[in-house]
Amino acid sequence: MAPFDPTAWRPAHHRFFVAAPLLPGTTHQVDALAHQLAVVLRLNDGDTLHLFNGDGCEYLATLQHLTPRQATVAVLAARPALADPTFELTLFQCSLKQDKFDWVLQKGTELGVTRFCPVVSARSIVRPAAALHTKQSRWETIVREATEQCGRTQPPPIAAAVDWPPPPLPPGTAAFVAWEEADPTTLRLGDAVTARLSSPTTPFALLVGPEGGLLGREIEELLQAGWQPVSLGRRILRAETAAVAGLALMAERLDTRQRNTKG
Ligand code: SAM
Repeated sequence: MAPFDPTAWRPAHHRFFVAAPLLPGTTHQVDALAHQLAVVLRLNDGDTLHLFNGDGCEYLATLQHLTPRQATVAVLAARPALADPTFELTLFQCSLKQDKFDWVLQKGTELGVTRFCPVVSARSIVRPAAALHTKQSRWETIVREATEQCGRTQPPPIAAAVDWPPPPLPPGTAAFVAWEEADPTTLRLGDAVTARLSSPTTPFALLVGPEGGLLGREIEELLQAGWQPVSLGRRILRAETAAVAGLALMAERLDTRQRNTKG
């Protein structure tokens, strides 16, 4: 067992956002974190933690002076943030009841969604889109906390909710609409994603319907707009389950693309 190295990076490190340039060798007063560090987490001088400021790196730092009111950290090292997604993955989620939508935001952030687009479709219970705009700051808090927890350094943006139809896709986007009536043998999401992995820069999108599902004419409109219907298997999933299942599968395939292109 290697001796304990206090300057080693460890996934279990606590992670904190610090809005400052975090160059190795610099020290920073982070009194706003003092109570959480000293009282909640019961850390001590010399303990190490990860800091990030949204620049795509993460920083190893050590506590130099900690009381419940004051905290000074010294930055030891920097590295590219390993947990930040290396792909573009937009989730167009039709509005759901509040707790379900909150859950999709949290899990989608953990799974690597790089942009959320809330959409109000014909069967969305929570409507119209304007009624959702008051939830934006709460949603952003959910996403920011999930970003910190999972090791990402940049919270994915949440577009303002829109009423159907979803906004036009950027050219070249591989866009998939999860449709429970899609043929589960010939239109599986995994196969459809793999077929579009050849270009290392293709952006991806997934659209998941509301609790009551999408109308036939909504599916038709999506087909016209370049979306491809995909199946998530033979079982009818709750919308929030479909979102997480679809995103997990897409993120895994997209991470594989990144590894393959890195050689
Ligand atoms: N028609 C569904 C029913 O009979 O209960 C209602 C929609 S389902 C609860 C909610 C959403 O999850 C759908 O709009 C679809 O986007 C997605 N979904 C659920 N099961 C799916 C499956 N097996 N394949 C693809 N998408 C699915």
